[in-house]
Amino acid sequence: MILPVYLYNHPILRNKAEAIQNFDQELRDFAENMFETMRNAIGIGLAANQVGSNKAMTVIDISELEEGVGTKPMVLINPVIEAFSDDENEYEEGCLSVPDIRDMVTRPAAIQVRFNDENMREITMEAEGLLARVMQHEIDHLNGVYFFERMSPMRRTLNKNKLKKIERGQFEPEYPHIQGKQ
Ligand code: ZN
Repeated sequence: MILPVYLYNHPILRNKAEAIQNFDQELRDFAENMFETMRNAIGIGLAANQVGSNKAMTVIDISELEEGVGTKPMVLINPVIEAFSDDENEYEEGCLSVPDIRDMVTRPAAIQVRFNDENMREITMEAEGLLARVMQHEIDHLNGVYFFERMSPMRRTLNKNKLKKIERGQFEPEYPHIQGKQ
């Protein structure tokens, strides 16, 4: 089922997610819906609060863009970034909750992340490249942080008018969505 994506500046996107104790059937179905919603909108990552849930869960699928080990679709439950590399890189990011804005964001190039998998097993892994990038973007969502808040002050200023338009409901993406304006 395709779920509507909540747009900037909906309050749920500022919420801090709550930990999942039990990955039950309801949440499994929800994760499937998240994948479907993300793919329908041509996204590579989606956090639960972007589709109206407070749960600490995100889905990622970069398999279309990057082939090789570790790029199969993933569900990250209760993810926490435990370490960041000193090394940083720049990459153009976009966000299904902030349609129409794509811009360069500087982030640590590699991270160590801990999460529960779909069997609630605790996994610790190191990620780099696009996977590290998407994980940081999605885990930020679970902490109520937007990618544009990671932009340089100049880039934020350049995107201010577009952001206002989204906030006012003057920009409509083609996928199902819920306006941020209350
Ligand atoms: Zn996003």
